[in-house]
Amino acid sequence: MKRYYPVLEPSIASREKKYVNDCLDTSWVGSLGKYVPTFEAAFARFTGTKYAVTTCNGTAALHLTMLALGIKKGDEVIVPDMTYVASANAVQYVGAKPVFVDCEGTTFNIDSKKIEEKITKRTKAIMVVHLFGNPCRMDEIMRIARKYGLRVVEDAAQAHGATYKGKKAGSFGIANAFSFYGNKIMTTGEGGAVTTDSKKIRDRVELLKGQALSKRRRYFHTELGYNYLMTNIQAAIGLSQLERLPTFLRKKRQIREWYRAHLGDLVKKGVVSFQEPTSGSRPSWWVSSCLLSGFSAEKLGVLLKREGIETRPFFFPLHNMPHLRQRGSFPVSNRLAREGIIFPASTTLAERDIAFISKIVKKHL
Ligand SMILES: *Cc1c(COP(=O)(O)O)cnc(C)c1O
Repeated sequence: MKRYYPVLEPSIASREKKYVNDCLDTSWVGSLGKYVPTFEAAFARFTGTKYAVTTCNGTAALHLTMLALGIKKGDEVIVPDMTYVASANAVQYVGAKPVFVDCEGTTFNIDSKKIEEKITKRTKAIMVVHLFGNPCRMDEIMRIARKYGLRVVEDAAQAHGATYKGKKAGSFGIANAFSFYGNKIMTTGEGGAVTTDSKKIRDRVELLKGQALSKRRRYFHTELGYNYLMTNIQAAIGLSQLERLPTFLRKKRQIREWYRAHLGDLVKKGVVSFQEPTSGSRPSWWVSSCLLSGFSAEKLGVLLKREGIETRPFFFPLHNMPHLRQRGSFPVSNRLAREGIIFPASTTLAERDIAFISKIVKKHL
């Protein structure tokens, strides 16, 4: 039978089954149970932050960061134009306006040189996204934030374990969000977390994710809250995935090296250019992404699909989405959306798979 290569599939092993079975055997299947605090403590330790608070998904984690920072109607938040829609939606959920900034053609991340021109009196925060696991230029971003008195929030949904100058993604901002969606580097099925060093923010996130339940009176709710809780089963999967994360990261980085080696001729000819790591960073390489020149990325996707190889384009630039529409000049993110392609990058792949995929890519280009 011909093999089918999805872009991403999770790796579930005996450890996940063992922890999940523990939840089932003890009937702790809801949001109470030992795996939630254990996973939170382990994830905070891994990220190098004081606290991690789990959530039902990454979008909820982003929403809670906005709420915890008190961002509200009339405020603006800087967001890269090339990211998953959740980054900007979280800003809109609290009634604030995401203000889009164009990206870099090399790292694909927010162009720090174009941030200052978008800062206004209403700007409250800069949300950075480490696209595909490649850390943003954090020195530069923290400098701008300090200069204008803004807070930094990291959307680290694709960057578990990535580092910038030795410090982990998700530990730079005042409050940061992770996703553990099924195709992320580590998964809980659906899930997310907020990381922070601030006790105040941790307590706010903890309160709001559980319907703002009073600590003193049961069924008394002190303000508008949400049900954004992670279940014990999700946390059990998360803990086992976190224990296996070093292996996943090694494999992700290895997969990118394999692609670079097997597609080396096309890189030399300038037909394929890989996303470049930010200087001083060690990306997690959630996916191996590149730009195509002189050949339609969309067409290559169709051709590969016929041979059982799934690819995906980058995101649509957010300034073009009906509910986020915004005027401005975004030449780079427009180009990334046109020329970008993502090849299969599951941690279950071996070098012969990457060699096979690369061979088919070369045949068509
Ligand atoms: C996955 C992801 C999220 C959150 O997604 P959920 O599906 O809600 O977990 C947010 N931002 C980015 C950049 C993502 O890739």
